[in-house]
Amino acid sequence: MIIDLRSDTVTKPSDAMLEAMLKAPVGDDVFSEDPTINQLESMAANMFGMEAALFCPSGTMTNQIAIKCHTQPGDEVICDELSHIYQYEGGGIAFNSGCSVKLLKGNKGRITAAQVLEGINPDHDYKAVSSLVSVENTTNRGGGACYNCIDLQDIKEVCLKYNLKLHLDGARLFNALIAKQETTKEYGNIFDSISICLSKGLGTPVGSLLLGTAAFIKKGRRVRKVFGGGMRQAGYLAAAGIFALENNIHRLAADHLHAKQIGEALSKKDFVTNLVEPETNILVFEVLQPYTPVSFVEFMARNEVLAFAISPTQVRLVTHLDITPAMVTRLLSIIEKM
Ligand SMILES: *Cc1c(COP(=O)(O)O)cnc(C)c1O
Repeated sequence: MIIDLRSDTVTKPSDAMLEAMLKAPVGDDVFSEDPTINQLESMAANMFGMEAALFCPSGTMTNQIAIKCHTQPGDEVICDELSHIYQYEGGGIAFNSGCSVKLLKGNKGRITAAQVLEGINPDHDYKAVSSLVSVENTTNRGGGACYNCIDLQDIKEVCLKYNLKLHLDGARLFNALIAKQETTKEYGNIFDSISICLSKGLGTPVGSLLLGTAAFIKKGRRVRKVFGGGMRQAGYLAAAGIFALENNIHRLAADHLHAKQIGEALSKKDFVTNLVEPETNILVFEVLQPYTPVSFVEFMARNEVLAFAISPTQVRLVTHLDITPAMVTRLLSIIEKM
């Protein structure tokens, strides 16, 4: 029994999800004729109280389409230095949109309205035009930390005042909503665009959604085609998304409980330090003597537990829907004996 805690992207579709996929009516989505994709898009837009949605192959694509639609070449995007859009999307902000970035040093990947205000360039010929702010919730490199809605409202005020667009990289937004007991509608109210991943905690094999106004999504569809993301009978994948939105949101609380239990066991160990108290399903900690992150990961692998050394000092563990309570119990006993 392998316990794979490298990422919440490693989940396999359940039998019930596969059954829903097999039964999906499909059509050519480039002609907007896939009924299952159309259903998923309108379902997601309604959940967030937003006008429209766009089904895409990945969260990188939904983020990159949003950045492209909100900016002009030469503009500047404001985000935290740990942001996925900056760290893990292959330089796409420059490659796809021709934009520079203003990196803010936030707290666990979270930025404040005051920092955003300070990050906006003055209106001079020699300065890039600040046109977009992107925030991440939950934060990936920040150890799954969540924003409070009120702090996002403050960022929105600054954006409105200075005429900047506000994008949410909500790859794990549902983890934040469950942890903070917030609603999709609150988020739909704040952001110009939202990206959510169906293939992380929600457990589908493929897929992300971009949400926004009808005009924004119309433009986004065009950019998706240019980026090579126009899909045909992808309703089989959208059916997994519908299944996930209907069945896999509330159970995220179990993943959060598992992360907490594992975190408590780790924090009792002398070789673990700077463990970021898990707010959701991600645990990030530093490893000390007699282990290194690499030797810790190797030790775990010998015990059929897969972990991820994310830096020369840090290890990351992520819980997800394929991690059972029995697996957590086994992991706790492995940690105890270390
Ligand atoms: C996983 C992730 C994405 C999207 O990743 P894809 O692998 O392209 O789907 C975007 N943002 C964050 C914060 C993520 O964790």
